[in-house]
Amino acid sequence: MAAAAALPPHAEVLVVGGGLAAGYVARAAVEHGLGGVVILGEEPVVSYERPALSKAYLFPEGAARLPGFHTCVGGGGERQEAPWYREHGVTFATSAPVESIDLARREARVKGGRAITFGALVVATGARALTLSDPGLPGGDLPGVHSLRSVGDADALLADVARLKGAGGGAVVIGGGYIGAEVASGLSLQGVPVTVAFPDASLLARVVPRELGAIYEALYEAKGVRLLKGATATGCVPGPDGRVAGVRLGDGSVLEAGLVVAGVGARPNAELLDGQAKREGPGRGGLVVDSSLRCLGPDGAPLDRVYAVGDVAAFPLSSQGDVIVRQEHVTHARSSAAYVAAALAGKPPAPRYEYLPFFYSRVFGGVSWVFYGASPPGAVAVPFGLAPAAAAAAEGRASKFGAYLLDPASGRLAGVFLESGSPEENEAARALAAARPAADAEELRAAGAGYLLAA
Ligand code: NDP
Repeated sequence: MAAAAALPPHAEVLVVGGGLAAGYVARAAVEHGLGGVVILGEEPVVSYERPALSKAYLFPEGAARLPGFHTCVGGGGERQEAPWYREHGVTFATSAPVESIDLARREARVKGGRAITFGALVVATGARALTLSDPGLPGGDLPGVHSLRSVGDADALLADVARLKGAGGGAVVIGGGYIGAEVASGLSLQGVPVTVAFPDASLLARVVPRELGAIYEALYEAKGVRLLKGATATGCVPGPDGRVAGVRLGDGSVLEAGLVVAGVGARPNAELLDGQAKREGPGRGGLVVDSSLRCLGPDGAPLDRVYAVGDVAAFPLSSQGDVIVRQEHVTHARSSAAYVAAALAGKPPAPRYEYLPFFYSRVFGGVSWVFYGASPPGAVAVPFGLAPAAAAAAEGRASKFGAYLLDPASGRLAGVFLESGSPEENEAARALAAARPAADAEELRAAGAGYLLAA
């Protein structure tokens, strides 16, 4: 790992941000013979597969630990530990956060003063976890209140879990999104009593079709996790020892908590290009890029060899009429990184970056879903397999069920959600969502899971 002091003065390709996307830029750059790549990462370790942190990293036994999940094992490639970068001519500087970028001078400055000039720039700064303090909620920074984004965060959480197991008491997870759902599973597997408090009417409301939410709720409850729906946290309260002792809810009640994990969303790290590149929305969104992932100047014109990849990029999604989206997901981080490295090597794999939205999750060992495509406004969900799945969920087991998402505007299938699919069935779900066939709700209802399998 290169210390900031060992940085070369110039990079042909400078990657700012050392997260998962950076590892995939490096992999594709090496594949395409693109030299002079320098990566500046903030964390003390080289890129790793971040999804492990809220899943296998939290297992009580056989837990994932570095170096076991450095990129690119999750993408089916060679594991890239620090020596891999050296051996392949890539400079990866860890603990080297960038404090400023000057696009006119084509220069970035690492915190502490070192500057590096660049030919091309790839912004791979990702997103940061929002904390309770971001919206100004009191007590968000009390000892015992955690967020989860980095290995350091996960280690701090696990140390606190060990303390809690010794002292007794339960955990409160704030938020019913990805972190909420996965961390609740991890803490529960650790034997910690867990309550999840979230404002929505069902868990993972933004991605799991509402008709399916009750099955997951039954599953969580069968595993002993308490779900508090319609509950908004308004702050954390300290105990006599100064550590967090409870979470205050919107109705004024206080939930007792020996440990709190806030999974209340993420925000793109786009500030380094403030005033130099176009951002989505009023100062809070990602970096707007064109269909080749090139950043745009404030006037909307593409910037010369300045790209954004992964969570920070707000890109036009061709399958949805070029609506500008950010995809906070590992698959987009991998594929956008690979696209840009190939484009910089003069070998773009396609005239534009094409992406099929994809999300997945895995909890409690055997509960595992995929969602391909989109759920456009007014989408009609046609579920299948619900009755047997409800019976299995009540016993704490997952079984195959899912839903087709129909776009009423086009009469086409827009997305497929599938729990407990085989690799072949998951692939069929992907292919269906990519093909977007004309579909009819009655036909889908009658065919159930058979429609997917026949595709
Ligand atoms: P999400 O955006 O998925 O979910 C945030 C949740 O917090 C929502 O349920 C939201 O409710 C709720 N919330 C916000 N404020 C409060 C509050 N004051 N009290 C109670 N609940 C509140 O973000 P996460 O933090 O779960 O995940 C962050 C990112 O991590 C994701 O975007 C994703 O990139 C990544 N991730 C992805 C995983 C995967 O793909 N499997 C796994 C883990 C992380 P509401 O909807 O009403 O606003």
